[in-house]
Amino acid sequence: MIFPVGNLRKRVLASVAMGLLSVGVVLAQGGATPAVNLHADEPCGFVTVLQQLEQQYPGFKANYDLQTQRAKESDAQKLALQGLDRRKKIIRDTLYYYDTVYTIPVVFHVIYNVANENLHDSLIISQLEVLNRDFNRLNADTVKTRAIFKSRAGTARIQFEFAKVDPNGVATTGIVRKLTSKATFASTGGSIQDLMKATVTGGNDPWDPTKYLNIWVCDLSVNNQDNLLGYAFPPYGHPSWTSSSWVADSRQGVVLHYKVVGRNNPRATGAIASSNKGRCAVHEVGHFFGLRHIWADDQYSVNKCLVDDYIDDTPLQGIGAGFTCNLGGNTCVEPKNDMPDMFENYMDYSTEACQNMFTRQQVQMMRTSITDFRTELPIKREIITRMRIFDTVVYDEVLIYPVDTESDVVVEIRNEDILEQLDVQFFDLLGRKVTEVYKLSKNETRFDTQTWASGYYVAVLKRTSDGKVIRKQKLFVD
Ligand SMILES: [Zn+2]
Repeated sequence: MIFPVGNLRKRVLASVAMGLLSVGVVLAQGGATPAVNLHADEPCGFVTVLQQLEQQYPGFKANYDLQTQRAKESDAQKLALQGLDRRKKIIRDTLYYYDTVYTIPVVFHVIYNVANENLHDSLIISQLEVLNRDFNRLNADTVKTRAIFKSRAGTARIQFEFAKVDPNGVATTGIVRKLTSKATFASTGGSIQDLMKATVTGGNDPWDPTKYLNIWVCDLSVNNQDNLLGYAFPPYGHPSWTSSSWVADSRQGVVLHYKVVGRNNPRATGAIASSNKGRCAVHEVGHFFGLRHIWADDQYSVNKCLVDDYIDDTPLQGIGAGFTCNLGGNTCVEPKNDMPDMFENYMDYSTEACQNMFTRQQVQMMRTSITDFRTELPIKREIITRMRIFDTVVYDEVLIYPVDTESDVVVEIRNEDILEQLDVQFFDLLGRKVTEVYKLSKNETRFDTQTWASGYYVAVLKRTSDGKVIRKQKLFVD
C-alpha cells in the first residue's frame, strides 16, 4: 500500500493536458504550489496523481514544478489585476446577515459498473440532507465548535433540492443512474480526465452546469485503493484560484467516490471508515462555491504561513490537519490575536467527526460566488428575517436587506462598476409612498422602519437617468 491512509478526503486539483512527450501540467493551487515533495504520507489526491505520473513518465515532476512556478508568477499578476483585495473588502464589508436563501437544484449521476456501486436512493437522499444541514448550521455537533471560534461560525443559507425537471423539461427525481462498462473512473496516465462527466467516455453528460449542481457518484479507486474520495473545481474566473484551476462548464460540478456518499454508508470501511458522515460532499461543494483549503495548499512552502486562503476569519494555518482533530495545534503564530488551527472547518483535512463549521467570511465568499459566478444556479431566492423580502427582479449588485437589530432596511449598491445613480421609493400595498430617496450611487443607504406599520411594502429601484425600474422587492415588516 503506497499510502498509509487515514481519512482520505481529497481535493484533486489537477488540470492536466499531456501527450507522451509534451507535458503540460498545472495544478489548481492558487499562487501556492511551490516545489512538490512526494511524501508517502501525503493524503492529498493530487500527490497521488503526481506519483503515478512520475512513475509512468520520469521527469514529469521536474516539468510540473516548472509549470507551477510559471503559473504562480503569472497568476500573481492576474490576481492583482482582478482586484482580489477589492473583492475581499467587499466581502468583509458586506453585512453577514443579508438574508437571501438560495435554493440550488441538484442532480446526482450515479454511474455504476456493479450493483454495489448503484447506491440506494436512501443514501443519496441522506447526502442531500447532510448538505442542507451543514450549510445551514443545523448540525447537532455545532456544540463542538470551540468557544474561541463560535462567533466566527456562519450560516450559508444555501439550500439544496433535488432537481424536479431535467433540461428537457421532463419531471425527474434528480437522481439518474447509468450502467457503465468502466470498472473505475480513476484517471489513468495520471491526468484528471473527468471521464465520468461525458456519456461517450462511459459516464453521463452534465445537465446544464450553469443551471444545476451536477454531482457524479462513481468508483474512484486506484488499484482497489480508496486514494481519492472526491474533487471539484471552483467557479471559472474565481480570483481566489489560479487560472489553472478554471475549467470549462462541462467539467463544473462535484465528483464523489461512491463509498463516501451519504450518512453511514456501509461501504466506508477500513482506512476510510471515518468518512461516513457525508462531509466529503460538504467539503467539495465548498470548493464548488470557490472556497480554498484553510491552509491554502502551501504545505510545501518554506514559509507555510505566507499564503492565506483569502479568508480573514479562518486563522492562518500552515498545513492541513492530517485527518486528526489536533486540539491545540497551531501551525502559524499570528502577530495579533493568535488562534490555533481551526480543525472544525469543513475546508480543513480534519476527520469528519470534528468538522462542524464554515466561517462567516467563507459563507460570504460562497454567496458572492453565487452572485458573481453562478448567477443562474439558484432557482429560488427567498429572504427570511424579521423583514421578509421577496425578489421579483434579480439584480444582485444592488442589495436590499434588513438589519434586524436596528429596524433599518439597507439599500446597498455593492458593485463598484455600477456607475448609474438609482432612485429608491417605498410604497405600502395601497400604493401610498412611504419614503423615497434619489440619486443614490455607491455604498449603502439606510431607512429607519421603526415608525412603519406592520405589513407589506414594496421597494422600487429605478435608474435615475431614464427612470427604468431595475428591481422591485416586496418587504414584510412585522
Ligand atoms: Zn479539498
